[in-house]
Amino acid sequence: MARKTEIAVVGAGPAGMAAAIEAGRAGARVIVIDENQRPGGQLFKQIHKFFGSEAHRAGTRGVQIGLDLLREAEEAGVATLLDTVVYGIFSDRCLGLAREHHTEELEADAVILATGASENALAFPGWTLPGVMGAGATQTLIHIHRVLPGKRALMVGAGNVGLIVSYQLLQAGAKVVAVVEGLPAIGGYGVHASKVRRAGVPILTGHTVLRAEGREGVERAVIARVDENWKPIAGTERTLEVDTICLAVGLSPLAELAWMAGCEFRYIPALGGWVPLHDGNMETTRKGIYVAGDLAGIEEASTAMEEGRLAGLAAAQSLGHLTRERGEKKKGEVHKRLAALRMGSFGEGRAISKEQILQARETV
Ligand SMILES: Cc1cc2nc3c(=O)[nH]c(=O)nc-3n(C[C@H](O)[C@H](O)[C@H](O)COP(=O)(O)OP(=O)(O)OC[C@H]3O[C@@H](n4cnc5c(N)ncnc54)[C@H](O)[C@@H]3O)c2cc1C
Repeated sequence: MARKTEIAVVGAGPAGMAAAIEAGRAGARVIVIDENQRPGGQLFKQIHKFFGSEAHRAGTRGVQIGLDLLREAEEAGVATLLDTVVYGIFSDRCLGLAREHHTEELEADAVILATGASENALAFPGWTLPGVMGAGATQTLIHIHRVLPGKRALMVGAGNVGLIVSYQLLQAGAKVVAVVEGLPAIGGYGVHASKVRRAGVPILTGHTVLRAEGREGVERAVIARVDENWKPIAGTERTLEVDTICLAVGLSPLAELAWMAGCEFRYIPALGGWVPLHDGNMETTRKGIYVAGDLAGIEEASTAMEEGRLAGLAAAQSLGHLTRERGEKKKGEVHKRLAALRMGSFGEGRAISKEQILQARETV
């Protein structure tokens, strides 16, 4: 017989934990499921101080935010099921779980999907050699497994992820030979770029990696300048002696479960690609199935937490744990904070894209 709960949250990252905390505080019976041995999602890899506003814990390290969320979840009476993969979602919000060498089912009145994102790859000659890896994988190796992936690294991509992981490689004792970025300008925050530059790492904009060379692993990377169409400019090739090539070329929403549930999607490049449509409550086109965090469009941990709160409140309200008045008031406060996070030169584009999702959702 299937186990039952009121609210099942898939993914124990900042979005899933925040959703579970709000729903638990409202009095709902909540189970959070995560494939890892420890909850927290990306947060436990992020030893750096977060950016953003004070209200969103700028200056606090991701690890600390993760620990705080775990404590709050416990206080809210949230149950966690770790080391457990949700391999499928079936009719009537029934989840297929794989754990401890067996499978089982969990039926929920509401499901909140907060599965995060996967790293984009970049195909070039030699990209399958050992030593070519995602920047997020590099972070996992260093901060979770305490393993330095190599001694001399090339970082591909100068967005926030590429810049932050470059700095973390330096802190862990590796040399970052260069950061290459195809665009004419650095994509990440100036504060991160400055730290990397001050450490003596050249950030080469308008450059890309052409190929990786080596016999059994990466031994060299060939880079070149690119024109405005991203075409390599002949005669500008340079060979760098590296044993690691880290790819920080974007993230895509990890949306398999939402596809499987039959949710409607839109392709929105500014949010990382195919994104499940959702309304202001984070509810998808399937009743009782909510999304939050990077799955609902690639942004940041701070927005992921706020979206999680919205989904948790909305799910709890739909199950009668919050009066309409109280639910709407609390969600209104979250919407205000989300709007503040989506202001400024970095946030505006995301605000417009999120608006597109809401409008598209209304037409379905
Ligand atoms: C290098 C780097 C630096 C960053 N720095 C910042 C920063 O300074 N400030 C900031 O605000 N943001 C930062 N971010 C972004 C932030 O980490 C993400 O936006 C945030 O973690 C997204 O939260 P989430 O809960 O949606 O996903 P995640 O944190 O990725 O959590 C999703 C969880 O779901 C689990 N999961 C997925 N599928 C399944 C399944 N089928 N079954 C069971 N479990 C599953 C995953 O294993 C994971 O634990 C950074 C990201 C990176 C990579």
